[in-house]
Amino acid sequence: MGDRGGSSALPAIGAVFCDVGGPIYDDENFVAAVLRAADELRAADGLGAVDRARFRAIYDDVREAQGGVSLRASIAREFLGSESRKRELHDLTRDYWAHPVGTMYDDVLPFFEALAGRVRIGILANQEESVIRSLERDGLAPYIDVWGVSAVVGYEKPSPELFEWALAAADVAPSRAVHIGNRLDTDVRPAAALGLSTVWVLRGEAPSSPTAEQLAEPDIAVSTLDGLAERIFTELPVAR
Ligand SMILES: [Mg+2]
Repeated sequence: MGDRGGSSALPAIGAVFCDVGGPIYDDENFVAAVLRAADELRAADGLGAVDRARFRAIYDDVREAQGGVSLRASIAREFLGSESRKRELHDLTRDYWAHPVGTMYDDVLPFFEALAGRVRIGILANQEESVIRSLERDGLAPYIDVWGVSAVVGYEKPSPELFEWALAAADVAPSRAVHIGNRLDTDVRPAAALGLSTVWVLRGEAPSSPTAEQLAEPDIAVSTLDGLAERIFTELPVAR
């Protein structure tokens, strides 16, 4: 702050894009779908349910790594006998993935309310089309200008195409946009590579205890969305 005032100020943020799992809905919705799918595939093989403690250990490893380790590949290898079954697990997980009533974080609506009318607001997420109906049901849809839902748009994070599609839809340059997400590999890094500012939300698939190196990657790291709107308008974009 301070050196950014007056006529030398960087251009103001014009678009805010937000991931869904983690920032908006609890990632446990995805975990529940993966577990239900894995249990069902094991039952078809005459095996018992996935060991929950072992699952949590694998999930925590994936969360800590923030890249390079695929949850579904690890689950397929550990519980389905072969990593080659990850596609099967993926397809069944999609069938069971939903965002039930009560799983949106309480800080989401106040955050979007604080952004409303000040910037273009977009969803930018690897999600099924049904997430749109969940967001309509939970009252967030009226705030959304840009629906960057991977299953609808046809691109997935971390591919730059989904970010570029959202920027074009919002008609805002990357330097005036911020992406909010809870993963370094699919949110912070690909957004930063395109020149967007980044916010890392430390919940769900984010590590419980991020390292100093990890915390240095985003422009802002937060554990809730409380107060984030004002930080976006006063701290971003940062000169690089
Ligand atoms: Mg997420």
